[in-house]
Amino acid sequence: MRAIVVERAGGPEVLELREAEAPRPGPGELLVETAATGVNFIEIYRRSGVYPVDFPDIPGSEASGTVVAVGDGVAGFAAGDRVATSAGTGTYAEHFAVAAEQAALVPDGIDLRTAAALPLQGATAHYLAASASRPEAGDTVLVHAGAGGVGLLLTQLLTARGVRVISTASSDAKRELSLAAGAEHAIGYEGFADRARELTGGEGVAVVYDGVGESTFDGSLSALRVRGGLVLFGGASGQVPPFDLQRLNAGGSLSVTRPSLGDFMRTVEERAWRYRELFAAVLDGTLELRIGARFPLAEAAEAHRALASRGTTGKLLLEP
Ligand code: NDP
Repeated sequence: MRAIVVERAGGPEVLELREAEAPRPGPGELLVETAATGVNFIEIYRRSGVYPVDFPDIPGSEASGTVVAVGDGVAGFAAGDRVATSAGTGTYAEHFAVAAEQAALVPDGIDLRTAAALPLQGATAHYLAASASRPEAGDTVLVHAGAGGVGLLLTQLLTARGVRVISTASSDAKRELSLAAGAEHAIGYEGFADRARELTGGEGVAVVYDGVGESTFDGSLSALRVRGGLVLFGGASGQVPPFDLQRLNAGGSLSVTRPSLGDFMRTVEERAWRYRELFAAVLDGTLELRIGARFPLAEAAEAHRALASRGTTGKLLLEP
């Protein structure tokens, strides 16, 4: 099969298209023919050495496709089923293997491109809105990078719960998209903490969802109301350096959490619940997926460059 193979940590140029041996489904696993694979920041962190990786590596974890074979002991799946997962390995390839218990059957009515955008970014938006923090209806929150993959989905899931969203984004076009996704105000990054305070009558926001990290972290703390919470879920601008916990006291009994998707998809039941809610939200129109760009598998490096350069909106897909 054709796959993207990475031999060493480095820039996008280390993503090379090669012939590779197709995986075989082990016990409890599915072998899936890839329809589309999501491009996510985690693959940039892994490729560039921020997160450790054993090389050679075929990147990718979020994908959709059609089951072509099942391993011993698999129940509930058969060849021909349409599935999506965020726990495949090596999904930047024509085929990938995944534990059956980590895969979800894609309902009729949801196409495989849409399905490829849900398991990682969708599930992240779901756990951020429903589990990592619990803003109440009527609360105002701040979502950074509101036109991004996670940002657009998170904004829609929050507003569906009656939460009021202020978002940040770097251009007028991105801010327009964020407003269309339900944000009440979409603002630039310059002076965002003061602006968020103004927009909440001086009080500050209940929660900040910050996947931008290094460049926004400080302002995010300043934007919080008393007893507000910062959910730091990524570092698109760089990882946040150590900081003085006294900031939380001075800011008004603030809290900070640094959650990870895997910790919110721990059991079969929890994964099934998130997938069920996400699929239902797509089918009833609560959640609209924006595929910002599609790249052929061979252009994985271009896809990484695009995501890192802030030129993209919504979901980026690679298609074999
Ligand atoms: P996005 O589509 O949101 O792309 C990142 C966006 O961040 C950019 O479009 C850009 O929007 C903004 N940004 C601000 N500063 C920078 C910068 N210096 N360089 C690049 N981008 C910048 O990506 P994803 O939706 O894939 O991921 C969003 C975040 O969510 C990432 O930090 C990712 O690691 C994190 N994540 C965390 C998970 C978890 O469980 N903890 C799981 C999944 C994702 P703009 O131009 O508007 O500023």
